[in-house]
Amino acid sequence: MKEANQGFGTIAIHAGNAKDKSYGALTAPICQSSTFVFDDCAQGGRRFAGAEGGFIYTRLGNPTTAMLETKLAALEGAEAAAVTSSGMGAISAVFWTVCRAGVHVIADSTLYGCTYALLSHGLTRFGVEVSFVDTADIAQVKAALRDNTVAIYLETPANPTLKITDIRQVCDVAHNFNKNIRVICDNTFATPYLQTPLALGCDIVVHSATKYINGHGDVVAGAALGANDFISELKLFGIKDMTGSVISPHDAYLVLRGLKTLEIRMDRHCANAKIIARYLSENPKVTKVYFPGLETHPGHAIAQRQMKDFGGMISFEVKGGKEAGINLLDNLDLCTLAVSLGDAETLIEHPASMTHSTYTAAELKKAGVPEGLVRISVGLENPQDIIADLERGFSRI
Ligand SMILES: *Cc1c(COP(=O)(O)O)cnc(C)c1O
Repeated sequence: MKEANQGFGTIAIHAGNAKDKSYGALTAPICQSSTFVFDDCAQGGRRFAGAEGGFIYTRLGNPTTAMLETKLAALEGAEAAAVTSSGMGAISAVFWTVCRAGVHVIADSTLYGCTYALLSHGLTRFGVEVSFVDTADIAQVKAALRDNTVAIYLETPANPTLKITDIRQVCDVAHNFNKNIRVICDNTFATPYLQTPLALGCDIVVHSATKYINGHGDVVAGAALGANDFISELKLFGIKDMTGSVISPHDAYLVLRGLKTLEIRMDRHCANAKIIARYLSENPKVTKVYFPGLETHPGHAIAQRQMKDFGGMISFEVKGGKEAGINLLDNLDLCTLAVSLGDAETLIEHPASMTHSTYTAAELKKAGVPEGLVRISVGLENPQDIIADLERGFSRI
C-alpha cells in the first residue's frame, strides 16, 4: 500500500494492491465476471441502495478495475478515479456529467481530433455552447468567460502541436471568476509522472490510457480523476447511465501491468525525444520543430516549471511542405506509419489527414496545425536507430 513519501515508481508498482485472498497470487487477479452473487435479497437491496460496499455488476464496478482506479488516483494525487473503455469514453462521460442544455464550455482550439469533434459537433447538438480559444493566451480565456460557463477544457502539451498552457494561470482566472467552473485537463501526453494538473488547481484530469499509461499498444482505455463526489456522480450517471463506457477486467489487468514500468519508460521516451528533437532541429530539410524541450519553443519556460520533463512527442515540418512530409512518411521503415502514441515502437503520422481530420482546413489554421505537420511518438528503441531511419527517409525524398 501507499506510504508517505514513496517515489513514483514504487507507488505505480504497489499502490492499491490487495493480497489475493484465494491463492496469494502476486499479480492482480483478473476478475472476469459480469455479475456478483448476493447472499440474500436483503444484501442485494443494501448494495443497490449504497448502504453496503461490495460488487454488484461490472458496469457499476469490478475488483480488477477498482485496483487500477486506486493506483491511478494515487499517481495523479486525486481523491478518486474512474477507468473507462477508451479515452473518448472518459471525456464524453465527463461532459455528460458536467453539462446540460443552456450551459457554456470554453475549450482550447488545439485538441485531439475526436475531442474536438465531440465539442464542436456533438455537444452543440444538445444545447451546449462551446467557445474555442487559445488557452495559452490568458486574455482570450478571460474574454470568453460567461455567467453560464461550467467548464474549461485543455490539453497541455497539446495534440499535435505540443503547445503548452500555463495550467495554474488558467485555473486561477477561472476560479476567481466562478469557483464552480471545472477546469479539465487532458494529461495524456504528460502522464502523471511528468505533470499532475490537480496539484496546479485543476478540478478534473482525463487520460487516454491507451497511450503511455498502458504503453504496449495492446489496449484501448481511458480514465477520469478528481474529487470523490464528482467521480461518484461520473460513475453513477456519466458511465452507468449515459455512456456505458466500461473497461473489460482483462484490459484493466493489462493497464495495471503496463503501469509497473511507466516511470522507466517515460524516462527513456523523454531522453530519446531530446536526442531526436536536437537531430531534427539541426536537419536542413526540417523547417520547424515543435518540442517543448527546445529553448526556442514558446512554452519552454512554462513546461520547465509545470512538468518534470518534456515528454516523448515531437512534431515537425519538412521543407517542401505537405507533399514532402507525406513523402518522408512513405519512405520510413523502423518509424512505423500509424496513429496512437506512447508505445515502445516509434510511431509517425500526418495529423491533418489522420488524427485531426475532424478539423476543416480553416479550423486547422486556427488551431495552429500546419497542413504538412508530421507528428512522431518517439519510442523506446535505441535513438541512433531511429535517427538512421529518419536519415534514410530524408535521403529518399
Ligand atoms: C488518443 C487521445 C485521446 C482519445 O483516447 P482513446 O483512448 O483513443 O479514446 C484523447 N486525448 C488525447 C490527447 C489523445 O491522444
